[in-house]
Amino acid sequence: MIYLKTDEEIELLRENNILVSKTLAEVGRHIRPGVTTLELDRIAEEFIRAHGAVPAFLGYQGFPASLCISVNEQVVHGIPSAKQVLEEGDIVSVDCGTFMKGFVGDSAYTFAVGEVAGEVRQLMDVTKEALYKGTAQAKAGNRVGDISAAVQAHAESFGYGVVRELEGHGLGRKMHEDPGVPNYGARGRGPLLKEGMVICIEPMINMGSKAVVFERDGWTVRTRDRKPAAHYEFAVAIRKEGPDVLTDFSIIEQALKD
Ligand code: MG
Ligand code: MG
Repeated sequence: MIYLKTDEEIELLRENNILVSKTLAEVGRHIRPGVTTLELDRIAEEFIRAHGAVPAFLGYQGFPASLCISVNEQVVHGIPSAKQVLEEGDIVSVDCGTFMKGFVGDSAYTFAVGEVAGEVRQLMDVTKEALYKGTAQAKAGNRVGDISAAVQAHAESFGYGVVRELEGHGLGRKMHEDPGVPNYGARGRGPLLKEGMVICIEPMINMGSKAVVFERDGWTVRTRDRKPAAHYEFAVAIRKEGPDVLTDFSIIEQALKD
């Protein structure tokens, strides 16, 4: 069941996703060699609560933290840990969710820890570009497959693996609503995009093979070949005029420059 949102509901979703963007910016300011992923999780939880929201991931299907933090070969759903110390050259994908005023925010960003290798920087850049290319297709009258195909074509043109097991989703009062938004597929296929739909588009792109392994902790998804993966996520409202992006990466990118 796809729920269409009113303008008022879309503004509440925007409020949540701006708070997620600000939280990711705050986390980004603290990403450096020597910090643990558990410290980043505490920073995020405090920040979210100080802004009148609650962390949407904490306790979700039993998830034990406020952020999913996935380092290098970890694709998504990594559990923050005091044992995981970030090192120069790592990349760290941070996925954040908030719940406030009855609605959910959900966005993700992959950060570099200090200087990363050129080929890793390219993976990050291409994954973000794939998100932008998918988002450009997110308008009323198109279909989910138009988004999926745009993401897949861009990632695969660089020889990267597009993860099949996980996908984007509708967003609203619940974190995961219909429709699913795969990162691979065919143009012109899948559910019709309608004014008032809100979806999360979230390419998970592997430098090597698309194959992933689900770790025994019950959460972490990593690449089978242990090459790095990147993950960026936007929440987007579907409009007749085109995509209305509710997430704001400029807040994160400005914080990284400061
Ligand atoms: Mg997310
Ligand atoms: Mg999501």
